[in-house]
This record gives sequence, C-alpha cells and structure tokens, in this order.
Amino acid sequence: MAQRIDQRQQAVVSHRMTFWGSPSGNGAASWEYTGQKWVVKRPDDGNPPFQRTVRCEECGKALSYAVHSVGTTRRRRFRRLLGAYAGLAVLLGSLAGFLTLGDAGTARTVGTVAAFFLGAVLGWVCGLAAAEEKGVTGHFVGWPGPTKHDVTLVEPPPEELPELVCARCGHREEFPQGKHYRKGFVQKHYRAAVSRLENHTCGNP
Ligand SMILES: [Zn+2]
Ligand SMILES: [Zn+2]
Repeated sequence: MAQRIDQRQQAVVSHRMTFWGSPSGNGAASWEYTGQKWVVKRPDDGNPPFQRTVRCEECGKALSYAVHSVGTTRRRRFRRLLGAYAGLAVLLGSLAGFLTLGDAGTARTVGTVAAFFLGAVLGWVCGLAAAEEKGVTGHFVGWPGPTKHDVTLVEPPPEELPELVCARCGHREEFPQGKHYRKGFVQKHYRAAVSRLENHTCGNP
C-alpha cells in the first residue's frame, strides 16, 4: 500500500542488526532493526530537495539523505508505477509470444523466455519500489530487499472521534476506535453508532 506523504512527518531511521534474515510468519524473511526518530521536513513543491544528514546511533555512520517535496515524491512514485506497468506489458507480451511459438527456432524461444523473466522482475521490483517510495533517497532507501539502513515513515495516529453520549440520559453508543482499524471501517461504524444514538429509546425524554 502506498504510504502517506506529508510535508512534515515522523520517520524512523533504522540500522539492521543481523546480516541474515530470520524467517517470519508470512514466509518472508524479516530483519531486526534498531530505530531512532527523525522528523522529515520536505521542501515546498518546485524547490530542490533538502540534503539532510542523520548520524546512526548504532554504528555512528553519517547517513546523508535527499528529502524531496510532496509533489516530487508523487511523481517519483508515478514513474516507478509506469515501470511496473511496462514490466507487466513485457510479461504479457512474452506470454502471447509463447502461444505463437509453434516450432520456432531456439533463438526466438530463448528470447521469449528472457522477455518473460525480464518483465516479471521489472514489474515486481518497480511495483514494490512504487509502494515503498518515501521521497527520501540515499543509501538504497525505498528499494526492495534488506539494506543496512532504512527509513520508515510513521503513520500519524487517526484523529479522535467525539464520543457519542446522550446529553439527556447519559446513554452511550460504542464504536470501534484505534489505528489498527481501516479508516473506512471506523467511519462506517461511527455513522451507524450516530444513527443508533439518534434513534435510542431515551430514558429521560
Ligand atoms: Zn548504522
Ligand atoms: Zn437519551
């Protein structure tokens, strides 16, 4: 999922502790990182990126990053998405090529297989990179795979919704709240709770 990009937002700069990934639940390897807080401030749209240096608290290395504006970040993400679609197009083209191979010569078969893998890799890498695009570049930030240092944007906590309590009888309607819920889910249940409150049998009419 694409991340939220704000002009000013919290981030965590992390240093990978172990060289080899340890297997995690979903089959992908996970790496242990230690993190330090970093506030990302972006230039206004149209301005050149800010050059920022963060000193890693773990290894003492000075990490220099370029921080891009919100607009530039969106364009970077868009270009990577285009790369992903180009990879998909090559992949689909090669599949069509397989169907028409017939008893074509070895060269064409090898070319079709190569196009298939090229398309798959390009689509996969660019797709992941588009989702990972943070508008912070340097030290391989935003490219898939384990890197020694990584920058992670921290999602701001969702805004608190006002409680639903009847002013006359104190009747309260509960609704799910918390950042582990999807925003749409919370809003849907909040609207339902509002209408339940409006229609409740008031103990003190
Ligand atoms: Zn470090
Ligand atoms: Zn009431």
